[in-house]
Amino acid sequence: MDDQQRTGPADVDLGEPLAVDVPAVPHDASGEVVETRDLTALAPPARPARRWTPKRVVVTPAALEHPHGVCIVERVEALGLEVERLRSNRLTGVRGASDRETYARAKSTMAVVVSPPSRRDLQPIAPSADWRVDLAEGCPAHCQYCYLAGSLSGPPVTRVYADLDDILAGLEPYLGRGTVTSRREHRAHEGTTFEASCYTDPLALEHLTGSWRRAVEFFGDWDADVQLRWTTKYADVDDFVGLPHAGRTRVRFSVNCLPVTERVEGGTARLEDRLAALRRLALDGYPVGLTMAPLMPVEDWRTHYGHLLDLVEAAVDAVPDLDLTAELITHRFTPGSRDVLLGWYPRTRVDMDPSRRTEKRGRYGSLKYVYPKDVMAELRTWFEAELARRLPGLRVLYWT
Ligand code: SF4
Repeated sequence: MDDQQRTGPADVDLGEPLAVDVPAVPHDASGEVVETRDLTALAPPARPARRWTPKRVVVTPAALEHPHGVCIVERVEALGLEVERLRSNRLTGVRGASDRETYARAKSTMAVVVSPPSRRDLQPIAPSADWRVDLAEGCPAHCQYCYLAGSLSGPPVTRVYADLDDILAGLEPYLGRGTVTSRREHRAHEGTTFEASCYTDPLALEHLTGSWRRAVEFFGDWDADVQLRWTTKYADVDDFVGLPHAGRTRVRFSVNCLPVTERVEGGTARLEDRLAALRRLALDGYPVGLTMAPLMPVEDWRTHYGHLLDLVEAAVDAVPDLDLTAELITHRFTPGSRDVLLGWYPRTRVDMDPSRRTEKRGRYGSLKYVYPKDVMAELRTWFEAELARRLPGLRVLYWT
C-alpha cells in the first residue's frame, strides 16, 4: 500500500466528516483452546498520559462564528498555545516525508471546526445507545488496536466541534424515538440514550474544549428521561466533580488488564488513575461503568484479568448507592484497520493474525475478524462468573 492509499490526501478538508464504519465501542483461561500471547515479552511500556498539548492548533473561519468555537480558541490561547486562523476549510502541511511522519503530524494537530451537517442527523449506535452524538472526532492517544484506525479517511487530525450549542439544541427531537437501548427490556429504564464518545476520547480533549462538561450540564438541566453516555481512557475528572449532572450522565472508564494498558495503550492514563477517577465520580453520584475492552486472551489472562477485577473491587468499595455497569467487548479487527494499524505500529505485539480468527460478516457484508467460538465461550463464561461473584450489584449491559 502506498502513502496516498494509506493516509489519504495530503490536505485535509475540514468541511468533510471522517468516513466511519466501525463497531459501536468509541474505544481471555489457561485452557487448551486459547492461544495466548505475552504482550510484555518484547514491547516496551507505553508512555503514561499527560494532558495533551497539541503541537499545532488551527481554527476555520466558520468555527469562529460560533460562541463555543471562540471559547475553545480562548481556552487554548490561555494555555499558551498559538492558534492558526485558517482562511478556508482546507488544512495543509500535514503530509510528511513518510507515513510515520504524516501520522505523527496529524496526531499532534487539533482543528476547531464546525461539525458536518451529516453529523447532526443522529444515527443509532448499537449496542451502546439509542443515538450517537459527536462533539469531536479523533484522539491524541496511541492505542495499537485503536478501533478508529480503519475509519479515518485521511490523516488522523483531531477535530473538535465549535457548534456545540446547535448540536445540543438538536437533541430534543430524538427524545423517545430510540430503537436500541430503549427497546431492550433490561435497559429501557435508562431513557433515551445518547453516546458521545464513539470517535474520540472525551477526557483527552476536555481541558482544551470544555465540551463534555457543557454536555453534562445540558443533560443535568434537561428534565426528561434521557442519559448521556461516554467512555474514556483518561482520568482528569476535576472539572466534572460537583457538576449538576442530576444522574443523567453515565461515565464509563475503559479498562483492561495491565499487560494491555501498560504495553499497547500509549498516551493514556494509568489503569489505577482511571479507577480512582471512577471512584471520585461514583462518590459524586454519577452512574458509572466499565468498558472492558478489548478483551484479549494474553498469556496467563485469568491471573491478569483477575488482578484487574481486584482493583475494580477496591475502587468501588463502600461507595453509597453505587450504580455500576459493564460492557464486555472482545478484540476484533477488519482488514482495513489491520493494514492501517500495522502501518502505524509495525512492531506491535497485538495479535492481528487472521488465520487465528473467525470471519464475521456485518449487516452490510463488511468483514471483521473475531476470536473463534470456543475462545469466545471460554472468555465469556469466565468474565460473567467472576463479575457476578465479585461485584453482585454490577449490571452487564452486553457482551460482544
Ligand atoms: Fe483509539 Fe486509544 Fe484514542 Fe480510544 S483512547 S480512540 S482506542 S487511540
